[in-house]
Amino acid sequence: MRLQDLSAALLELDASHRRRQRVSLESPQGVEIIIDGNEYLSFASNDYLGLADHPSLVRAVQQGVERWGVGSGAAHLLTGHSQAHQQAEEALARFVGREAALLFGSGYAANLAVITSLVGRGDAVFADRLNHASLNDGCLLSRADFQRFRHNDLDHLEQLLAGSSARTRLIAVDAVYSMDGDEAPLPELLALAERYDAWLYIDDAHGFGVLGQGRGSQAERDLSSERLIYMATLGKAAGLAGAFVAGSSLLVDWLVNRGRTYIFSTAQPPALAAAVSTSLRLIAEADDRRERLAQLVACCRRRLAGTAYSTGTSRTPIQPFIIGGDAHAMKLAQGLQQQGYWVPAIRPPTVPDNGARLRISLSALHDVQQLDTLLDRMLLLAES
Ligand code: PMP
Repeated sequence: MRLQDLSAALLELDASHRRRQRVSLESPQGVEIIIDGNEYLSFASNDYLGLADHPSLVRAVQQGVERWGVGSGAAHLLTGHSQAHQQAEEALARFVGREAALLFGSGYAANLAVITSLVGRGDAVFADRLNHASLNDGCLLSRADFQRFRHNDLDHLEQLLAGSSARTRLIAVDAVYSMDGDEAPLPELLALAERYDAWLYIDDAHGFGVLGQGRGSQAERDLSSERLIYMATLGKAAGLAGAFVAGSSLLVDWLVNRGRTYIFSTAQPPALAAAVSTSLRLIAEADDRRERLAQLVACCRRRLAGTAYSTGTSRTPIQPFIIGGDAHAMKLAQGLQQQGYWVPAIRPPTVPDNGARLRISLSALHDVQQLDTLLDRMLLLAES
């Protein structure tokens, strides 16, 4: 894109209802947020358990700052790796039942590191069509043969695996799909990985803290295999920021040596790492919050079931209300905003063409009454 073309391109995005605009919150993360002086009930955050503003977690970070200062000052392989990071990695590995774990500054960075350090030219990577952009970018950056299979279509994946003569194969999936809230068939994917001697890499950004009593999608299905690589982010249900990869010690050692976003990036602030143990304790103790989420999900499914709109099959806190056209989705989101609800309209290219939707993100801090009222208003607006 040349300098002189930028403004016309942005106007084009405007005309097609695809221009992205940020808003600045005047309040902490939570279900009640303030934007431009107006209060909204938010159904937009990934803070599923409501931990981002939890007093114990806030205190843990404050204590971490007092103990460790703010910046880590360097990459992990220089002097950026502290005892706080080391202990967080050990706690995370124990929590998800794997031998070892490695911290990253973000889930995006973790996905790039894992994929590019395991596959390259002459190898093949098999990715679900609805995978998160960061997985796709890892696949592209790896230079491996990048093959995408139809969403959750095991037969299609098997055909691609069977037709591949690549030496190293990696299957990459979201455990919970970020725009639909549905889940990957992990046991069947692991069986295919075993049969075709492939790695199975699962991105559990949206399952960690929520599924498997908080221990995530692989724990819920009781999966274990050295070829299974687990990644979860700490910026969603865990209430912090950053991410971790868990697997065998051998794998983690390889990532320390070859994961470019690990090697060439400043370590996460140690205070955040120091707060990981508190976050894990809160997650482990959050059965009541997960129970509330389950009630909210059930309410959403019940209320949206009979409508003319597709709502997918999600049993997770991500509940899509698929509208189709971009303009219609935007109009609905704006109508809800005027009534004090913040529900994002997700448009292409984040979702497929004609798949624009309202994405309702549920939090354990919502109550059923609040959700019920939102759904009343959303359905009224959709039908008007
Ligand atoms: N994977 C998935 C499925 C995600 O939804 C996200 C965040 N939206 C990421 C990875 C990236 O994680 P992070 O925000 O920590 O970079």
